[in-house]
Amino acid sequence: MSLQPIKLGKAPKLSDADAKRPDDLPGKAERVEQLLALKEQMTELQRRLFAQGRQALLVVLQARDAGGKDGTIRRVFGSINPQGCRVTGYGKPTERELQQDYLWRVHTAVPRRGMIGIFNRSHYEDVLVVRVKELVPESVWRPRYEQINDFERMLSENDVTILKFFLHVSKDEQRRRLLRRLEDPKRNWKFNPEDLKARNEWDAYSEAYREALSRCSTDWAPWYVVPADSKSSRDLLVAQVVVDALERMDPEFPTADPDVLRYVSALDTSER
Ligand code: ATP
Ligand code: MG
Repeated sequence: MSLQPIKLGKAPKLSDADAKRPDDLPGKAERVEQLLALKEQMTELQRRLFAQGRQALLVVLQARDAGGKDGTIRRVFGSINPQGCRVTGYGKPTERELQQDYLWRVHTAVPRRGMIGIFNRSHYEDVLVVRVKELVPESVWRPRYEQINDFERMLSENDVTILKFFLHVSKDEQRRRLLRRLEDPKRNWKFNPEDLKARNEWDAYSEAYREALSRCSTDWAPWYVVPADSKSSRDLLVAQVVVDALERMDPEFPTADPDVLRYVSALDTSER
């Protein structure tokens, strides 16, 4: 099984059942093994992407609190060369950021040629939390779907391949994970009382996600809903889409100047 992009205009259900591990994935041991193989492929493809230095990959991760963004970054992208990868997280905008348009802070973090960029939350917060908490009126956030599509199309026309993942957890699974954050001293620091407020707005967030995903899943920047209650399935499904995209990008090592061979003989004679 591999994930299919959402069709433009077709809102995903996002029911609790959609967050469960898909039946047609292999067993746990096999999933772990497949992930390992995909990570090796990713490492090799990134090496070529970096060497080529002509195109970039942007991976956008969105999820509810405790939805697994951090874990996905660590477990899917943890073995690629850190030099070729940059993660940018988006929290509440600063005073300074609020003085600019909402895409300003995002545009500066778009990966350069040769790089993989990962967004831990993104400009989509500006049609999600901003909509649910009514931080700006609807007349301001509604036009953003089109603005975002235009922005992402411009990036894709300038050699940035974009993949967007919504890590979808069920309400029960979120409860389990939030409880663990409260009970486990190693996870306490991640707990934020604000998470409970967002949990109380579950349906409003679902609606906001449904609309954002259906309006902004374009040919040039598709959205994928990842069933994310099972971590090993989530990782495998994300890794597969990323590797497929890198393969389509088909980065090649630059061909060396034929003159390099001259240096081989120069090195040989000088050291004799
Ligand atoms: P986790 O999911 O593991 O809890 P996190 O991504 O929630 O991690 P936090 O630092 O706890 O990390 O939260 C960032 C907060 O910033 C989120 O509540 C998010 O909704 C908020 N945020 C991000 N962008 C915006 C925005 N444009 N306007 C208002 N709030 C925003
Ligand atoms: Mg949080």
